[in-house]
Amino acid sequence: VTKNPQQPEVNIGLVGHVDHGKTTLVQALSGSWTDQHSEEMKRGISIRLGYADATFRQIPGVDAPECYTVEEETEDGEETDVLRTVSFVDAPGHETLMATMLSGAAIMDGAILLVSATEDVPQAQTAEHLMALDIIGIENIVIAQNKVDLVDRERAVDNYEQIQEFVEGTVAEDAPIVPISAQQEVNLDLLIEAIEEEIPTPDRDETEDSQMYVARSFDINRPGTTWDGLAGGVIGGSVVAGKLEAGDELELRPGREVDEEGQTEWRSITTEIRSLQAGGNMVDEVRPGGLCGVGTGLDPSFTKGDALAGQVAGEPGTLPPTREQFTMDVELLDRVVGDEEGEGIDEISTGEPLMLTVGTATTVGAVTSARSGEAEVSLKRPVCAEEGAKIAINRRVGARWRLIGIGTLK
Ligand code: GDP
Ligand code: MG
Repeated sequence: VTKNPQQPEVNIGLVGHVDHGKTTLVQALSGSWTDQHSEEMKRGISIRLGYADATFRQIPGVDAPECYTVEEETEDGEETDVLRTVSFVDAPGHETLMATMLSGAAIMDGAILLVSATEDVPQAQTAEHLMALDIIGIENIVIAQNKVDLVDRERAVDNYEQIQEFVEGTVAEDAPIVPISAQQEVNLDLLIEAIEEEIPTPDRDETEDSQMYVARSFDINRPGTTWDGLAGGVIGGSVVAGKLEAGDELELRPGREVDEEGQTEWRSITTEIRSLQAGGNMVDEVRPGGLCGVGTGLDPSFTKGDALAGQVAGEPGTLPPTREQFTMDVELLDRVVGDEEGEGIDEISTGEPLMLTVGTATTVGAVTSARSGEAEVSLKRPVCAEEGAKIAINRRVGARWRLIGIGTLK
């Protein structure tokens, strides 16, 4: 059992094609399943966030890379030294929507790109996810060539060269490629070494205005709980600036839609921070890095079923504006990712629907005015975002939304 003695200080995304081993690797590094029985887990705060924390450790007196481990003790019972705790954001493998991946990417400081040695490179989502890392600006990447236990040496080398060729000229060009078996736990020490070197903890400024991206929200009460036993709504996500402290006031934007005499309007919500959870522990403050759960004074019906996912939380009066429409500079991709033979991408046209991802928010918008290199959109659900924010632009192509470009909020 690996306990996480400290708050995670960095978020690492797990990206790559479905079935290439993302979830298996997270389990191997985090031992997260052993945590499932803890009280917090039962209350459903951590488990539904879709993340797992891992503490990297070092065996004293042993050379790299063999010294790297996630075990608290060596086989001889010797205690290991803590290096740091990281938080893995596991992209849901069954999800074909690019936006889901991108909304996760908004809170990633680095990423592990998993590529299975058993398949040709690149598979569709391998290419899409790498493109997304490029767009979001995630440059600290480690490539894990997984499932090497299933191939012979020749295929492994062949596949390795395919990966090298595939990442040439991309943001992952200089990323180390580490052959591993997540399932057989082979070369995990080499992988940890690569993560320690390539994905450092970013420098953060604690004195900035606090800001949290909300990725999930829940009602943690069991059905039938009476009002006097009712716990307030819980939001989960990542602090990206400043720090949150128990007892602080908290504003959420865009908040909720209020209907008054036939007029609807979005109003921010203000509440207080009643409890904080990070790294599986109840804590007094949460700094950037890792994912956290915030117990609020909100009516749990506000937070039920991810109702507040995509919102931004922070000190009242300091949040970016809520926007029901905006103008963005548009940079279209050359062609739809994963569709190498496909035709080029048509200009955005007035009236067409687009799916936009801004931070952790995903919203559908209609284009009200399109000019070359610029589009004005009107949103179904508003977003809270600062000028300069990056926007993933998706267009419906056939049966699914496909990433066609990147916008910058004006
Ligand atoms: P994900 O969709 O990327 O999260 O992939 P999963 O982690 O769910 O893995 C898909 C399947 O591949 C599961 O049956 C795993 O047990 C298996 N798998 C993952 N990693 C390895 C590995 O290194 N070796 C072998 N033999 N199987 C693996
Ligand atoms: Mg998975």
